[in-house]
Amino acid sequence: MMVLTLYNTLTRKKESFVSLKKSSVGMYCCGPTVYNYAHIGNLRSYIFEDILRRVLEFNKFKVKHVMNITDVGHLTSDADSGEDKMLKGAKREKKTVYEIAEFYTKSFKEDIKRLIILEPTVWCKATDHITDQIELIQTLEKKGFTYLVGGNVYFDTSKLKDYGKLVKLDLEADTQERVEEDKNKKNKHDFVLWFTKSKFQDQGMKWKSPWGEGYPGWHIECSAMSMKYLGKQFDIHCGGIDHIPVHHTNEIAQSESATGTKPWVKYWLHNEFLVLSKGEKMAKSGDNFITLQTLEEKGFHPLDYRYFCLGTHYRKPLMFSWDALESAKNARTRLFDKVLEHKSTVGKVPTKYSTQFMKEINNDLNTPNALAIVWDVFKDKKLKSNDLYATLILFDEVLGLGLKGIKKDKIPQDITKLAKERLQARQNKDWTTSDKLRDEINSLGYDIEDSAEGYTIKKK
Ligand code: AMP
Ligand code: ZN
Repeated sequence: MMVLTLYNTLTRKKESFVSLKKSSVGMYCCGPTVYNYAHIGNLRSYIFEDILRRVLEFNKFKVKHVMNITDVGHLTSDADSGEDKMLKGAKREKKTVYEIAEFYTKSFKEDIKRLIILEPTVWCKATDHITDQIELIQTLEKKGFTYLVGGNVYFDTSKLKDYGKLVKLDLEADTQERVEEDKNKKNKHDFVLWFTKSKFQDQGMKWKSPWGEGYPGWHIECSAMSMKYLGKQFDIHCGGIDHIPVHHTNEIAQSESATGTKPWVKYWLHNEFLVLSKGEKMAKSGDNFITLQTLEEKGFHPLDYRYFCLGTHYRKPLMFSWDALESAKNARTRLFDKVLEHKSTVGKVPTKYSTQFMKEINNDLNTPNALAIVWDVFKDKKLKSNDLYATLILFDEVLGLGLKGIKKDKIPQDITKLAKERLQARQNKDWTTSDKLRDEINSLGYDIEDSAEGYTIKKK
């Protein structure tokens, strides 16, 4: 078996992956806060996690993949300031927080399906696990890691010598000034485990607790649910790089203090951001927000976006532009066309290619190089068509582009009719009608290209 190397944020090194149990892996991924649609930046994160899972499975590990749904407690800052995101969504749409959560959870699940992201083994919702969170806070309280001020339970970061190890925080140099917004905090990095004194009069979600009626802070849900489903110690935890300084740092503090077991998680993996041309991060709260649906409305297939993401290593920022997405679309369409040309039932994968491919993906998920191998395979004139097909289908276990399911497009009759009318118009040199008909065909989701024989039509 070839070694799998992954970059671990905790050590800032590429390390050989060795699972805690012999052939199974526990992996927890921070899921969406369901107060709005996921944007394509968020989706980059889930595509990266999907590749990671597929690579682990390609390496014959059985993966238990747990993903949470945050439907309570996440404020607009990842720390304890700002507005409650769920409440913000509910106000915006004049609905209850539960309705908002249900709607955007459903929409998120549809997005990931369209991107051929494998469903997590376990979905867990924060509001379904309030008791687990309360119990974890009680454990921390018993062990002396908490304090109660102004009605809220805080985690006391000064009790930990290694607080901030994930972000390489220098506690000595870090001044202990108080956080402006919350004078109750004893130390700068302390954070809320349980709110009873809500800043929000219309807080819709509240539960009884030993500290009074209230709701959990954001970070505690991930510690409680990951340990419930994966045990006190597990292999992999992932998310976007924005989670390193606060959310994941606080998850480590809570979990290791509660169990006394270190390290809580062996490998921490984080994806870089999707950024816009101006270098700004795409954010749900910003107005620079593109969803998968927007891409589809502009004539892209969700898999064009998946292909686009695979073209850049997950630890590099990915610059979004419509032109770049267009190139990904062209490449993805070309790939699909070529795969169709070679579609067959039986074939053998040459060891040379399976080894080359595995070498790339096992090198910290090098998807750009893996894609390059895909194109090399097509250039190999000695490779038999059925073996080529088998090779691509094998690669697709990791790439997840749905190559096995590609079918020749059936062009609907009304489109063919328009195309014929257009051909007639062209023969009559009636360019205005011809252009009008092309627009109509495009608006119905098809591309038409002129050729010596007449035309070809393709679904966009
Ligand atoms: P949220 O729903 O805001 O909790 O974010 C869901 C996931 O998307 C988290 O893992 C974030 O780190 C990640 N994320 C947020 N913005 C971006 C972005 N612009 N590019 C890539 N990942 C992002
Ligand atoms: Zn989390």
